Amino acid sequence: MTMDQVKYLLDESDIPQAWYNIAADLPVPLPPPLHPGTQQPLGPADLAPLFPMSLIEQEVSTERYIEIPRPVRDVYRQWRVTPLYRARRLEQALGTPAKIYYKYEGVSPSGSHKPNTAVAQAFFNSEAGVRRISTETGAGQWGSSLAFAGALFGIEVKVFMVRVSFDQKPYRKALMQAYGAECIASPSELTEAGRAILAADPASPGSLGIAISEAVEVAAKNDDTKYALGSVLNHVLLHQTVIGLEALKQLERAGDYPDIVIGCAGGGSNLAGIAFPFLGEQLRGGKKVRVIACEPAACPSLTRGKYAYDFGDTAHLTPLVKMHTLGSTFMPPGFHAGGLRYHGMAPLVSHLKELGLIEARALQQRGCFEAALQFARAEGILPAPESSHAVKGAVDEALRCKEEGQARTILLNLSGHGHFDMGAYTDYLSGKLEDRDYDAPAVARALEQIPAVGG
Ligand SMILES: *Cc1c(COP(=O)(O)O)cnc(C)c1O
Repeated sequence: MTMDQVKYLLDESDIPQAWYNIAADLPVPLPPPLHPGTQQPLGPADLAPLFPMSLIEQEVSTERYIEIPRPVRDVYRQWRVTPLYRARRLEQALGTPAKIYYKYEGVSPSGSHKPNTAVAQAFFNSEAGVRRISTETGAGQWGSSLAFAGALFGIEVKVFMVRVSFDQKPYRKALMQAYGAECIASPSELTEAGRAILAADPASPGSLGIAISEAVEVAAKNDDTKYALGSVLNHVLLHQTVIGLEALKQLERAGDYPDIVIGCAGGGSNLAGIAFPFLGEQLRGGKKVRVIACEPAACPSLTRGKYAYDFGDTAHLTPLVKMHTLGSTFMPPGFHAGGLRYHGMAPLVSHLKELGLIEARALQQRGCFEAALQFARAEGILPAPESSHAVKGAVDEALRCKEEGQARTILLNLSGHGHFDMGAYTDYLSGKLEDRDYDAPAVARALEQIPAVGG
């Protein structure tokens, strides 16, 4: 190892054998999901129409480690262990005494962290004999990742894609189709939930909340079809912990340990993936880390949302989960980081925020694109618009280190590349992108509609 090493790679044999479940180390247990009708805690049977039992067991497990099945590890081997880089040229460009490391998840076949869970979910569904999976997608990262995973395990995939992204990102749709999946613009005429939205607003740009309603409805009404979610749920966050588990080992190889861990946060899965293994070390008596979730100012659930029981979707078909929410009927504006346009946040991430174990920051999109270009010009990798929020968060922290003369170690998760998002970069470079604050009156209206949960 040389002093100026930039890339830390491990062997295939270093791919984690088990996912890390932070539920085992929580100082206060996670509030349970509730049945929307009875408001009583959900039982496994309530979720059985939507998910195979193996995933339901993971959802409620408090075991610290859950073994990664052999066939899933075999697929992971194609691109894992993902590289950890030291961003030496970016450090130099910023003139910071901080050390910046980034874990790069864009090396997966679909270009983001999402296959880490898509492959696992497709595997557990195929084990359970499921023929078809319905799902939603925002920018198309999740839809294309599940389409890829479905192709590997012989499962049909039906994707409801948020209308505004369907129009903005036609190549993501083409990628889903290339993998053999069906991709439908949401809201659609195919479901009751979609028809109700279109009746009220024929020009609806759609939202993740609406697309989730459509996908859940299709799974609930068809015996051979299950539903899959690309973020938010405990088992999804669990699958993403391969990111942080690898990073722990890679940093050990580098002789380092982060003071600050940064991820962008839409539903919270890539942030959880990089941060939970480090938080677990801390909760078991190890070194303290600052974890920073970077979310868009136009859809700021963690910084401006209410911590309350709410629905995961617009049509109120999902269980009630306790999370930071802007209200399930809130329609985020059509800004460019489509993967961050969700009204809620993972219950686990929300809970850790309430416990003071995670910080959050809301960032405007132009500053994020500017940081992304600075990153690209120094490191050569063009971040996805979602990931650019983490890059901006890291740049801000590195500049603060410079002001304070502190040589802190920063670890950021670069959740994906931006090669399918060149339209967004074109808009930014031609000066067409505007910063947007969240629509406070619209959030207030949506928050009024949060269900009253007693007790
Ligand atoms: C989907 C996506 C996100 C947001 O989802 P999380 O669950 O918050 O991680 C972030 N980055 C990329 C590249 C994505 O595709």
